[in-house]
Amino acid sequence: MPICKGDFHIHTSYSHDGLIRVEQLLLRAEQLGLRIVAITDHNTVRGGLEAARAAQRMGVDLLVVTGVEVRTDYGDILALFVEEEVRARRFREVVREVRSMDGLLALPHPSRGRKRWQAEEAAKVVDVIETVNALTSGGFDKLGLRLAEKYGKPVMGVSDAHLLRCLGRGYTVLELERISLEDVRAALSEGRGKPRLSKPCGVLEHGISALVGGSRIVLRALRAQF
Ligand SMILES: [Zn+2]
Repeated sequence: MPICKGDFHIHTSYSHDGLIRVEQLLLRAEQLGLRIVAITDHNTVRGGLEAARAAQRMGVDLLVVTGVEVRTDYGDILALFVEEEVRARRFREVVREVRSMDGLLALPHPSRGRKRWQAEEAAKVVDVIETVNALTSGGFDKLGLRLAEKYGKPVMGVSDAHLLRCLGRGYTVLELERISLEDVRAALSEGRGKPRLSKPCGVLEHGISALVGGSRIVLRALRAQF
């Protein structure tokens, strides 16, 4: 069966701290030999929808999975294969809403941005757990690996790129007969994905997206004031 690479956690300029334009992202992904990209902006699916449209328009050989990274009271949660905005922000409600949309739930960077017990509770519920995230924990999330083993959950590798240079640094290898949304989803949820890390993102990359995110928030607040 043909082997292909997918990056299932990517931010575009639709994220407050994202700097990648959709067209740039698609061209670079193609150059890198990725076949699947999942767009998961903070709290919005607009980046994903835009990328899916742009991929068609540009005729790139890429499957775009629309998704969103939702900030909840249990830390961030990824919803993949959703095309509508997720309105809820409380973890349990997000789970219910994403399930009602027939989305796939994934736990991103389990060891970052949440307490241990929250990671544990989330791990029990989600469909897939990130064990490779090029942006955090030096690339390998050991807690993610432990939780995936403990609860028998499928795993995936992602870049969590906010900058073009980080795209594809973490990814998932899938063996697929056909590259379609149904087949990719089945392979991921059946645990056929193999997480890989090419190069973790460094302090510099972290700093840049934090700086951009911070200044955009300040600008928005200023605009609202004046
Ligand atoms: Zn992210």
